[in-house]
Amino acid sequence: MRTCAVGSLLLLVTLAGCSSPDSSKPAAPAKPAAPAAAPADRKYLLERVDDAAVVQLYADGFTSLPLKQKTLIYHLYQAALAGRDIFIDQRHKDALEMREVFEQIIAHSQGVDPKSLGEIVRYAKLFWLNNGPYNNLTARKFVLNLTPQQLKDAVYASAKAGAKYMTWEKTIDDKLARLGPMFFDPNVDPIVTNKSPGPGKDILEASANNLYSGVKMSDLKGFTEKYGLNSRLVKKDGKLVEEVWKVGGMYGNYISEIIKHLEAAKPFAEPPMAKALDALIKFYQTGEEADRKAYDIAWVQDKNSSVDTINGFIEVYVDPRGIKGSWEALVFFVNQEKTQRIKTLATNAQWFEDHMPWDAKYRKASVQGIVANAIDVVVETGDSGPVTPVGINLPNDQAIREQYGSKSVALANVNESYDKSAPTNMRSEFSWDQAEADRTTKYATFSGELTTDMHEVIGHASGKQAPGKDNPQALIKEYFSALEEGRADLVGLYFIADPKLAELGIFPAAEQDNYVRTEYESYTRNAIVQLRRVRQGSQIEEDHMRNRQMIVKWLMANTKAIEARTRDGKSYLVMVDPKQFRDGVGKLLAEVQRIKSEGDFAAAKKLFDDYGIHFDPKQRDEIVARVDKLQLPSYSGFVMPKLTAETDAKGAITDVKISYPQDLTAQMLEYSGVKK
Ligand SMILES: [Zn+2]
Repeated sequence: MRTCAVGSLLLLVTLAGCSSPDSSKPAAPAKPAAPAAAPADRKYLLERVDDAAVVQLYADGFTSLPLKQKTLIYHLYQAALAGRDIFIDQRHKDALEMREVFEQIIAHSQGVDPKSLGEIVRYAKLFWLNNGPYNNLTARKFVLNLTPQQLKDAVYASAKAGAKYMTWEKTIDDKLARLGPMFFDPNVDPIVTNKSPGPGKDILEASANNLYSGVKMSDLKGFTEKYGLNSRLVKKDGKLVEEVWKVGGMYGNYISEIIKHLEAAKPFAEPPMAKALDALIKFYQTGEEADRKAYDIAWVQDKNSSVDTINGFIEVYVDPRGIKGSWEALVFFVNQEKTQRIKTLATNAQWFEDHMPWDAKYRKASVQGIVANAIDVVVETGDSGPVTPVGINLPNDQAIREQYGSKSVALANVNESYDKSAPTNMRSEFSWDQAEADRTTKYATFSGELTTDMHEVIGHASGKQAPGKDNPQALIKEYFSALEEGRADLVGLYFIADPKLAELGIFPAAEQDNYVRTEYESYTRNAIVQLRRVRQGSQIEEDHMRNRQMIVKWLMANTKAIEARTRDGKSYLVMVDPKQFRDGVGKLLAEVQRIKSEGDFAAAKKLFDDYGIHFDPKQRDEIVARVDKLQLPSYSGFVMPKLTAETDAKGAITDVKISYPQDLTAQMLEYSGVKK
């Protein structure tokens, strides 16, 4: 196992700071400023809300960064917070108004019935974690378990205590009546993203998000979309109109505020990053695709900055068509201690490309500029927080990836928080025997992080399109995201068993079998354990979950690597043959790459219809009963670190302090600017 003490991590970060161009101090004799050592007993798991865990995220290396980088991060952090509401509005047109109602009640709760308040706080926490009234993973709506009258009473009581409500209507009663169905009725706008609504139904009409208004798939025939990634598509008087997200357009106020902070950040950025920030500002100003491409290129060409940000309309999972970008922002710095492994993969990317188990015509002859880092995030908002990814590979534009390469990050401090906050019995409950459980305890953290690294760096970054099939998203439509996630997972599963990894020093050759077996076992178990996240229905909606089920069920149907067993009324998936598992992964990966490269929609649809989407609700109920008994969460949301700037008399930043609020409610009210 590769773990590192927190102390040495901080020391390394400090030395890196000393050798960077903006530091004037000599490296060797300088004593690193004593970093605040992480107390051994500090809190990771803060609380449970229904099936969610609330976890504090720490970014220990921040205090040791030079002031210039701290200041840069501070401004980028402000830019990240400035756009936060965009994503909430993208998820549902009423979401921001709904949030205002419960945030005012919570901030002015004097005189509110305590029982009602308890339920409002529960609902609010789920809403905050999921950026709206829909569960991130299941895409389904959750409701407020009060009567409309109880909510109204709470609103009136809070108004007496100083709450202020904005409304389009004449009275607050009218507003509550309008929002009522969204708060209380599970059948109104029930699913935020519905890619499989059933025969004869339309994926846009069946999806409640705010990326479209009044539009059906059939309306799009013969329509050329000019702002696919960054507009809301609306049918007005029988005509399609693109409401572009840019300065002076939709979300213009938020975007202008973001730009203000990006401008403030620029003087503290190294030249390649300043260039990327300029390109981003220009794209936010014009909304034009050419400027988005210029930004993607500038961002991917900034290879060496140890501080970086992702800020914009990026991932397309919320759109059932997989076209419109959800707004998100992350700000992060390189974790020097943990970055070696992922860099090794990036350096050897061509070797992996040459050995992909797919047809040689879909391999890149020369892999361009893959950049990879392990990072610590300081803040994540929009589509990436409070529920966060563990790895990211961007940009998503296939043509730019093929020509200019991509950047991958592994979110080291997020992984650490997951690990430290997870109940220990999670793994053993679903392991077939003690040996499997022991292996998991010993090897699973490392093997999981390693496959995540491979997923991003040599997975997403790999492969090429057939001639004339440049835009696989447009061809594979609602199955694209799940297919692409499956492809990246399969690359990780395939190469973890390759002797090349030991040769590269990723792990000792003698231990490889343990890592491989452990990873295959936990990947297999996950196919049923993840069903706990889908508590209603018999269908998976979230793309990563679809791909993971697809891979395991395909292996079960096409190899003898996995056995479904039951004991004492409990079901298990047991990985019994790593060799067959890997051979199957290789075959499936070759087919998945062919589907992507050729844009074979029919094959993608069949693959997911057969293996990835549907499950047995009886088995799900059994899994849910088991996890509830053990109090295992279905997902985690993170409370972010907080930055505070100290300034001199002229307003120049003299230091930036980081702190850890350990309180979701306080952080969310502060982000919204709600004063008590
Ligand atoms: Zn991915």
